[in-house]
Amino acid sequence: MQHHYRLLSLAFLALALASCSGPDTGVSRETQALTDLRVLAADDMQGRLVGSEGNARARAYLIDRLGEIGVTPVFENYEQRFTFQRSLDFRDPDAPRETVEAVNLVGRIAGTRPGEHVMVIGAHYDHVGVDEDGNVFNGADDNASGTAGLLAIAAAFMENPPVNDVIIVAFDAEEGGLRGARHFVENRPEGYESIGFMLNMDMLAYSETDDLYAVGTWHYPVLLELVSAAAGESSINLRTGYDEPSDDPRNDWTMLSDHGPFHAAGIAFLYLGVEDHEHYHQPSDTYENMTLSFYAGAVDTAVDVALRADAMLDAIAAAPSRQPEPVEK
Ligand SMILES: [Zn+2]
Repeated sequence: MQHHYRLLSLAFLALALASCSGPDTGVSRETQALTDLRVLAADDMQGRLVGSEGNARARAYLIDRLGEIGVTPVFENYEQRFTFQRSLDFRDPDAPRETVEAVNLVGRIAGTRPGEHVMVIGAHYDHVGVDEDGNVFNGADDNASGTAGLLAIAAAFMENPPVNDVIIVAFDAEEGGLRGARHFVENRPEGYESIGFMLNMDMLAYSETDDLYAVGTWHYPVLLELVSAAAGESSINLRTGYDEPSDDPRNDWTMLSDHGPFHAAGIAFLYLGVEDHEHYHQPSDTYENMTLSFYAGAVDTAVDVALRADAMLDAIAAAPSRQPEPVEK
């Protein structure tokens, strides 16, 4: 009996696994995104500081999820490793330095009629860790929320294959220097050098006014129509803004997250994110404190934006930017 029972449970497990790997999981997109958000922002991820054990734990979860969704690794596995130097005392740049190893995760979803360009969808999974007093900075909004949104977009494209090849990137080392995105832009996977558009998600889970910003249309006016169409279908307020050059850096988010290095390389981008709020870079940026119905709407909207961008990728790539030569900050 024991033996048969084992066989039966193995068969059941195989069935369960099979049903998890395809699009027909029976779990809605929103429910899955909430699960991913909760797991990535849990205390045992220890704030996901680049180079830390908690960061590695988050990465292991993401590798499992990418495999389950069916995204193909771009390199020999999903990992794109790199190192950088960091001051041992973040308040003193002249203090002794240490070498930190960081890891982007990169996967590919094949297009049905791939053309000249690929589209990159990205979100950073690192955050700022734990402070001297042991407070965990869970980073639910920043940026477990965008990372879970990234998985939702990957799953949507596996279900409805894109026209163009899509590259999915979970960036490491965004906090403190956009290092993962910079490394990726300078070390593009072979065969995917020509990037027609980049969609970045960073902070999708907290708004008391239901406002999500699509940043980048000032630079790339070709995207205005796309954003307006997505706004028309959205259950939340999808707004444009925060991208015109300004004397006050808080009013211009053009270089403030992982889309920045892409823009600096002349690649059209949209960045989806919320305004700063009371939990931003605080230990209170937890799953429990998020506005979860807004988040579900933000994830659906991000998926819609990605599908629309795929449908018009050639037009986006061909359109001029307002400033022909973007300047790296
Ligand atoms: Zn962030």
